Amino acid sequence: MLLERERNEIVRFGKKLLAAGLTSGTGGNLSIFNRQEGLIAISPSGIEYYEMEPDDVPVVDGRGLTVEGSRKPSSELDFHLALYRKRADVHAVVHTHSPYATTMACLNWEIPAVHYLVAFSGHKVPLAPYATFGTAELARNVAGAIGDYNAVLLANHGLVTVGRNLATAFAVAEEIELVSRIYYQAKCIGAPVIIPGEEMSRVMDKFATYGQKGVPLSSAKNEPDSP
Ligand SMILES: [Zn+2]
Repeated sequence: MLLERERNEIVRFGKKLLAAGLTSGTGGNLSIFNRQEGLIAISPSGIEYYEMEPDDVPVVDGRGLTVEGSRKPSSELDFHLALYRKRADVHAVVHTHSPYATTMACLNWEIPAVHYLVAFSGHKVPLAPYATFGTAELARNVAGAIGDYNAVLLANHGLVTVGRNLATAFAVAEEIELVSRIYYQAKCIGAPVIIPGEEMSRVMDKFATYGQKGVPLSSAKNEPDSP
């Protein structure tokens, strides 16, 4: 079986998406790019995560053509491919419609540095302009908006996160959902205070050495748009 380890990971993290409340039903999608082999394992379209088996996970090449597996790849295959082309440091992509991040996306807001954990994305979470789901236009918008960040909101749609492995991209999705919730709650009762760019740079430097191996983000080093 091609990409056996990666296909098992897709099944395992699909269940984790549901357990963490980041998606419901068959929503959201995940992929891993094995750059050595030039092959991508991506969640299939319309299969329940709790029923998914490793051989339900299609393997596609860098152009999105199926190499192994009988299931249809996720309808958002195009933006997964576009992100892998855009960012050589990215080896996994997670897409969710998690409720608080999607609330921000429906307001067409970016998420500023309202809490230091936004550092999982960078200095903020940028916003990609709206386009119909599953289209080449959406793929262009997502790849155009992500820059060096590890997360991007899709206007009126949801959240996309990237990482050097699937565990990282998943952690970014979890943390950005939390920051979105905090931003929403803070906005409900007052005016959130935004952390200055230079302090966020310090946080991101600390993240690199935190814990046993540092927070395993990508090598991205993004800067704020304005002071
Ligand atoms: Zn979606």
